[in-house]
Order: sequence, then C-alpha cells, then structure tokens
Amino acid sequence: MTQLPAPPVLRAAGETHIGKVRNANEDALIVEPQIGLYAVLDGMGGASSGDVASKLARETIRDFILHRRRTLEPGALIAAALEAGSIAVFLAAQHQPDRHGMGTTAVACLAVAPDRVVIGHVGDSRAYLWRAGRLQPLTRDHTVVAELVIRGVVTPEEARHHPHKNVLSRNLGGRAETHVDVAEVELAPGDRLLLCSDGLYNYVTADSIQYLLGSGDAPEDVSRDLIDLALRGGGGDNVSVVVIDAPAAAPSSTEMVRTSGAATWWQNRQRFLRLAHDSGLTKNPIVRELPAREALELVGMSLCQAIYHDLEKSTGVNVWTFAQNLAAGWFERGGDWSAVRALIDILSGAARMVVEEIRSVDPKLGFLLDVAVSRALIVVELALGGLLAERLRRVEADVIALHGEAHDTREHATREAIIRGRGHARESSVPAGDRDSEAQLVSRPTIPFLRPDRPVTSSGLSIDVRSAIGKTITIARARISSGDAALDGAIQALETIAIDSGGNFATAVLAARQLYGVRSADDSSIMPVFDTLDEARGLVATSVRQLRASPQIAVRVLRALSTAHQRLVGAATGLVLEAVAPHGDRLREAQAVTSRLRDAVAKAERQRADLERRFATIVDPNLPWGARGATEW
Ligand code: CA
Repeated sequence: MTQLPAPPVLRAAGETHIGKVRNANEDALIVEPQIGLYAVLDGMGGASSGDVASKLARETIRDFILHRRRTLEPGALIAAALEAGSIAVFLAAQHQPDRHGMGTTAVACLAVAPDRVVIGHVGDSRAYLWRAGRLQPLTRDHTVVAELVIRGVVTPEEARHHPHKNVLSRNLGGRAETHVDVAEVELAPGDRLLLCSDGLYNYVTADSIQYLLGSGDAPEDVSRDLIDLALRGGGGDNVSVVVIDAPAAAPSSTEMVRTSGAATWWQNRQRFLRLAHDSGLTKNPIVRELPAREALELVGMSLCQAIYHDLEKSTGVNVWTFAQNLAAGWFERGGDWSAVRALIDILSGAARMVVEEIRSVDPKLGFLLDVAVSRALIVVELALGGLLAERLRRVEADVIALHGEAHDTREHATREAIIRGRGHARESSVPAGDRDSEAQLVSRPTIPFLRPDRPVTSSGLSIDVRSAIGKTITIARARISSGDAALDGAIQALETIAIDSGGNFATAVLAARQLYGVRSADDSSIMPVFDTLDEARGLVATSVRQLRASPQIAVRVLRALSTAHQRLVGAATGLVLEAVAPHGDRLREAQAVTSRLRDAVAKAERQRADLERRFATIVDPNLPWGARGATEW
C-alpha cells in the first residue's frame, strides 16, 4: 500500500458566482493546497437542497482525504472520498423528505507529486488540461445524453442542443452507491488544470477558455476572468472554476529563455520605450528631425521587435539587420559615429533597466533575460564593429584610389598598419568633412534607411569587379602553404560572400558554419577560427595589391572583400555565442565571451580613431571626404 507523502503545494485559485439568473448558488469549491485537494461540486434538488448536497459532499470529501490519506493509494483514495460523499448526501436525504433526490456532481483533483495528480469525477462538472497552448478534456460527462452519444443514438451536434442534456446519469447522493471515474494525470512544467461546473462551459467557448488559461496570468486572475466571461455569456447558471498550475519548468533551459524571456520582453516594450525616451532617445541627431512618437516607434519599437524575434528563434539576424540598417544608413548620409554610439547606448541602457526591473521581481527569469538581451546587444556591437571596420577599409581604399600604389611611404606604412590592425590612439576625432555632412543633414529626411526591407548590403557588382575578385582569390589561394585547408576554406568563403548578389547575411552564416564545423566552445578550439579569419583577411588584402587592375577596380574589390570578411567574422562570432549561450551552467562563460567581444569592439574603435587621426594628417584636406560614404557596390 502506497502512503501519500506530504502533498506538493501547487499554485491554485478558485472562484464561484451565483450568476445572473439563479437566486441561490448551489455550487461549492474546495481549494486546499495544504492537503493537495481541489474540487468543484454542483448541487441539484428542490427547495435549495442542491446547496445542502454540494456543501455536505464537500465537507465529507475533504474530511475523508484528510483522515484517510495515509491508508489508501491516491486513485483509491479519491474514489473512496467521492463515494463517502455520495453516502453522506444520500443518508441526509433519507432523513428529510423535502430533500429526497438531492445530489451533486463532483470533480476533484488530488495532488500526489509535483508532476502527478489524480482526478476523480461523477456528473457533468469537468476537468481540463491546458498544455502548451491546447485545451484537452480530462473527464467525460456523466449525462444521459452523453451516454446516448457514446452509443451512437444521438450525434454530438444534437447533444449540444438536446432538451435533456443536463440530466445526469450519475451523481453523488441520488443513490447510496455511485461509480467514480478516476484518472491519473502526469503534469509537465507549465501545465494548467481547470475544474469547472457546467455554468462555465455552457456559456463560454472552449477557445475562450483556452485563451484565458494561456494568458500567463496568475490563477486568481484567470479564475476571475473566466467567471467574468461566463457572466458576459449570459450567466444563466451558477458558475465555478478552480485553476491549478503545475510547477513551472526549472528556469535553466534555452526553451525558457525563448518562450518566457521573449514574452516577458515583449510585455515590457512600452516600459522600454518610456525609459529610452527619458534617456533622451528622441533628441539624438539620428532621429531628432522626427516627431518624438515616430522616433520611438521607428527606432525603439524596431529594436524591441528584433530582440523579440531573435529570442524566439534563438538567432541574431534581426538585431544584426536592425543595427546595420540604422548605422549604415546614418553613415551613408555622412552622419558621425558618436551619434550612433549615443543612440545605441541609450537603447542598451533602457534594455538593461527593463531587465533589472524584471530581475527584481523574478531573479531567475531576470538573469536569463539578462543573458539573452546581452546577447542581442553583443550582436548590435558586432554589427557596429563590422561597419566601423568597413569604414576603416573605405579610408584605406580611398587612399589607394587617390594616391595610387605605394608612392608615399607614410601612406604605405599606414596601410600596413590597417592590414595588421594595429593602433593605440585613445581619442576619437571627427574629421571636418563629417561635421560638414552632418550640418547638411538638417534639411534632409533622416529615416528612410530604417525601412525593414532594406537589404543589409547591396547587390550587383559589375562584371569587372566580380572577375577581379575571382582573380584576387586565385592569387591569395596560390600563396597559401599547401595543406592549410581551413585558410583555403576561409578565403573561398570570402569570395562566395563578396559576390553574393543578394547581399544576404545568411550566406555568411552558412559559410561560417562550414568553417566552424563541430567543435567545443572553449578558447583553444574557437580562437583558431578567428586566427584563420585574420590570416585570410591579411592575405586577401595583400593579394589585391598584386592584382593588375585599375585603382578604381582594386578599391571596389577591397571593399567587397572587406565587407565579406566582416560579415564572416560576425557570423562566426554568432555561432560561438550560439554554442556557448544555451547551456545554463555555461552562462558565465558566455558572459566572459561577451566582455572579450566588447573589448574587441573597443579596441576596434581605438584603432579607428587612431587611423582617422593618422589619415587626417597625411591626406589632403581638399580631397572629397564628404563623398566617401556613398555605397557604390
Ligand atoms: Ca450547474
């Protein structure tokens, strides 16, 4: 004989209402988490004896469970408790003629373990299981009409409108003995149980019940909303509900981040916009020409949506595209870096505040959301880092185009520095040309580049450029020491991405996946990927110099390959994050990767500042700096 351990305490709530038509409430509830017992009873009988029946059965069932729980296994216990209720009601009716024939339904749920309940039921009160968005009945009505449906005498459609659909084939108290249906139910994390009287399901559609149970609201709120709905549906009967929550999943899985995290993030979007507004988002040069609401909507809401979709699908593509569109569009218009930095900092700060607020209410969810939002913000940084590096290479390309090959030794040294990525300056100085361009911006519409359908990069390289890219890649591959398959693969990937006419980030992700292969997410196995990518960049850049092509073509080849390289590095980094982040016990590791990446971005920024400063000293200020932002490929 199995003894019941102390019952698991499940979160539950119940509510009953007289309805709008009846003058007595003959329903009764049990919501007793301490003994793990929940029930809905719906009494019937003349002269308010239905009320007596349901209350008497309730007390009997409750006492039975309380006193006999250690002597019977759960299924037998719940059946015996309902049978005891039936006997008690039957005997009470025998003593008072005006209560003769009174009875009650009962649907009772006994919690056995955090993931297991038994359901006992007699009559037409129902139990439902809501699981993963779907509502399933756990009980079959004990009505005469339902029995006729089972025997094929009445169709389900006819049954719904049958005049005797409420006539029970079984109840507690009509006879001394009754037969109790017992079902054992295994609960999954996030499941919800609903017990209800016919006053609910006859006045509310199954879809509405499903919707309310799936709202994510607390059982108290769902119970109240279900009752409200029944009343709005006419309230022609007493209505009673009990909502019981299975324990939530241990919040350690990726699933949790995706579903709860995404939903929580989305629920807090207005809060995010308000915080972003209060932090000065609408005053940022990028959006200040717009009405405040439009600026918030375009920039804030776009980021909210991108984060939401990336959380849901566990990708970074949407956030990447958002950041690329925002910054690239601004740069193309000659906008300066500091405005982008300031705008992103405002958005990051607001996102962090939202996460902190969530963390103060629900530490575990807050922690996981923190990682997820950090991940999104890293993607933003990567996209910006990519654009910054692209800007560096534009500078390099402009120098090549304007001055030809290696005439000026200072320039040559600087180009080598770019290729090797060295630089230590701390201060960023905005070139005079950028300031001029910014001034011109005032009269222009600022925001069309934020259209979501804008491709991340352009399409359509000229045939000459494509062919020159092919030649460059051939030169580069010829210079690889034989057997370095990884480097060869990286260089070929650069070509594929560079000539991809769709300008699609997915091409880079595919190529990165090939390079990344199967490896563990630790430094010793990841860093070689990035070393290889670095080596490929250097090799390709120097191969461009060996290309026999006009400076204009060489510039475009270099631009295309630089962009491809940035995209590939970003995609590879995304894979690293993907590999590291999903595992709860490796979150610390993910955060370490995060800070290393942030350091890398900061370093890239310092390099950019350094190089801009150097170019400012060697390039003729009369040259058309302001025009260099236009994308030509
Ligand atoms: Ca009823």
